[in-house]
Amino acid sequence: MKKSIPFTKEIPYYGHFDVVVLGGGPAGVCAAIGAAESKKSVLLVETTGMLGGMATSGLVGPFMTCYDREGDTPVVGGLFRRIVEKLAEYNAVCKPEELDSPSIHTSWIGRYHRHVTAFNSFALQIVLDKMTQDAGVSVMLYTRFVDCICKNGKIQKVVLSALEGLVAVDADVYIDCTGTADVAAAAGVYTYRGEEESNVPQPATLFFEVSGVEDEGYVERPEIPVKAYRTPQDGRYKVNHYRVFDVDATNSESMTNAHIKARKQVLDAYRVLRDKTRGFEKAEITQVAPVLGVRESRHIAGKYKITVGDVTNGTKFNDRIATYGYGMDVHPRSDKESGNFKIEVAERYYIPYRSLIPDGCDNLIVAGKTISCESQAAGGLRCMPCVMAMGQAAGVAAGLAVTDNCTPENVNIDQLQTILREQDAILD
Ligand SMILES: Cc1cc2nc3c(=O)[nH]c(=O)nc-3n(C[C@H](O)[C@H](O)[C@H](O)COP(=O)(O)OP(=O)(O)OC[C@H]3O[C@@H](n4cnc5c(N)ncnc54)[C@H](O)[C@@H]3O)c2cc1C
Repeated sequence: MKKSIPFTKEIPYYGHFDVVVLGGGPAGVCAAIGAAESKKSVLLVETTGMLGGMATSGLVGPFMTCYDREGDTPVVGGLFRRIVEKLAEYNAVCKPEELDSPSIHTSWIGRYHRHVTAFNSFALQIVLDKMTQDAGVSVMLYTRFVDCICKNGKIQKVVLSALEGLVAVDADVYIDCTGTADVAAAAGVYTYRGEEESNVPQPATLFFEVSGVEDEGYVERPEIPVKAYRTPQDGRYKVNHYRVFDVDATNSESMTNAHIKARKQVLDAYRVLRDKTRGFEKAEITQVAPVLGVRESRHIAGKYKITVGDVTNGTKFNDRIATYGYGMDVHPRSDKESGNFKIEVAERYYIPYRSLIPDGCDNLIVAGKTISCESQAAGGLRCMPCVMAMGQAAGVAAGLAVTDNCTPENVNIDQLQTILREQDAILD
């Protein structure tokens, strides 16, 4: 047990917002826009220098399919679709309806990969800056949620580490989109890492991008454990490759060791591509993600825990706020396991609002990959189109809670679903 010391300090109070969103990844950005478009004052707090989370600082892509399991019908619309349209204005996207599988955009994977969305991650940063500004969201980059003050089961204030030091803000409703459920954990909500029984999460991977690939020569999927996905730019690919196991994204020592290991893996993966893959002989690394790609960290205990059965049967919840169709993509949790996509999913499955509502904190909503679900069930719903849909729903729900002066748990579900449908979200 490490020693502890007392720490007491007066810190600046930066004011009140209707809604404060912590974490500016795909879920957080959509939550902030969803709340701001409900005419609420919104602060979005992000620890890195850019919005987009794994899609930008993690260089992850493409956006996985936004269609049902067989790739026949779109199942995600709303803000995800608006982001795709904005990217098109910069010529920085291959729209999902234009891409089929297997292809160079899916690293020659066929199953579950029809209609992915290839995008340029710098353009996405620009698009998300503009969309949050247009919606009137106040954004604080380089600012990290560190703690909260709670009373009677509610968050009273959140403490942020801004570049100028610790500061505090407060809100009627908080939305935790940190991807690690930092706010929920600090507020005392029960959380578990990865599989609840073992506490082992899915592995981590450091994405990188190469350019100079000659597409004409690259006609077959290479039989190597390195997957390269073509971006909208000629000859430019995002690379997903080896894995670092049992990383605790809530522990600095674990993340430090993992990131150093993953950096070495980038070099190994690049050499495999360059030396053993037709078309990649002249490829150069053009960028390596600044942030390690963490597939899974904490999940919260919420009002409803999505089970594997819900995803395989397609349980149609009355309080559904999103639907999705991507396969249960559970990577091996150790080097003794192999394979993913072991369990078949329903044609489409549903996300209930209750899985975003934590047990034990009355003014908090959680959106993104940390919602209340079994680890395997998160295998598909953690993908970016789905977490954007969750974020949008969380933002709209927070807006309703503020307007109706009720807790997020008690918002009117019919009203929430009506607004989401008006915003082109797909719930059926
Ligand atoms: C290796 C890998 C490959 C993947 N492949 C794909 C793919 O091909 N297609 C696909 O669609 N999805 C893919 N995913 C899944 C997808 O990228 C994530 O599940 C998704 O980005 C989750 O979104 P999120 O908003 O919940 O969290 P994140 O994207 O993790 O965003 C969380 C944000 O919160 C910020 N943050 C964290 N802590 C704090 C704090 N304390 N205070 C303030 N800010 C904080 C982070 O900087 C980040 O910006 C992959 C993920 C990984 C890791």
